[in-house]
Amino acid sequence: MKYIDEFRNKDIVNLLLKNINNISKKDVVLMEVCGGHTWAIQKFGIPSLLPENISLVSGPGCPVCVTSKKFIDHAVALSRVKDVIITTYGDLIRVPGSTSTLNEEKSKGADVRIVYSILDALKIAKENSTKKVVFLGVGFETTAPPSAAGIINAKVQNLKNFSLLSSHKIMPPAMGALIDEGVAINGYIAPGHVSVITGTEIYEPIPRNYGVGCVISGFEPVDILQSVYMLVKQFETQDFKVEIQYKRAVNPEGNIKAQQVMNEVFSLRDDWWRGLGTLPLSGLGVAENYSEFDAEIMIPVEVEETKEEKGCICGEILKGLKKPNQCKLFGTVCNSSNPVGACMVSHEGACNAYYRFNR
Ligand code: SF4
Repeated sequence: MKYIDEFRNKDIVNLLLKNINNISKKDVVLMEVCGGHTWAIQKFGIPSLLPENISLVSGPGCPVCVTSKKFIDHAVALSRVKDVIITTYGDLIRVPGSTSTLNEEKSKGADVRIVYSILDALKIAKENSTKKVVFLGVGFETTAPPSAAGIINAKVQNLKNFSLLSSHKIMPPAMGALIDEGVAINGYIAPGHVSVITGTEIYEPIPRNYGVGCVISGFEPVDILQSVYMLVKQFETQDFKVEIQYKRAVNPEGNIKAQQVMNEVFSLRDDWWRGLGTLPLSGLGVAENYSEFDAEIMIPVEVEETKEEKGCICGEILKGLKKPNQCKLFGTVCNSSNPVGACMVSHEGACNAYYRFNR
């Protein structure tokens, strides 16, 4: 509790707000690219504390939100194959595909199981040697290393009935692409969990090439406000760089072992992001050396043509161009019990966080 008290301390919050007010002169737009930050920013009402000239916008940081509908359709198609068991993190089963969800397929008899880690999926594979077990790998540099370790583990155990359908992505190409597209961003609140793995180097091109600062932030109110202060200071002094606010968890080198495991099992490929389209070398496909664990190769299926929802503006929200409450479906047709788009499904999605804390 002492730890939480320290990072939610009202006096420190007030001091930080005073400091922000003192240095902030110009209009500034800061984007968070981590679903955990999206959730925390809304939960603690951070935007309402800040002066009007500082806007916080959400970017493509929620893994479920950026995952393509094609990936969901692919998983749905796999779930319909005889003797296939789909294993997945919970959020994904509610994400709408073009014509179905994994939840709907489960209710029709498909074997879709929620797991808490890839290790659970490996256990299911061991216990069901006559079935083919597919793990759905989503998320950024945070979840890719455990997926990679799971595949190495499957290889060591000589598991022949286990494979991964990968939608893993890396964050930096999206951060650059948003600025290339002309989205007005004056600073990135860079992801805390991703950075535990990657360290700081992956963000260096952002200040160098675009003149936009990056501050790696923790998730408590004091963390976020201190990060805002650091970014506003960089902007006001035009001294753009990568800084770590979340020093209790992130070091500049990151987790070298996790990086090695990820690089061993995955190879970079072009990938599709909701809102941004296909970004070169932004996705992680299973590397050739591990192709016997690649569900795309091991269980070929026909995937239906992608159809996007009418009226859903997730794409614009993920680019920071619109707020969830600017969507006509927000809170009415689309709500957390009946999500129309991916941004309402995951609790890290901007629409879901707005719906919970900012209706
Ligand atoms: Fe899509 Fe629902 Fe968000 Fe609107 S409120 S953008 S329909 S997820």
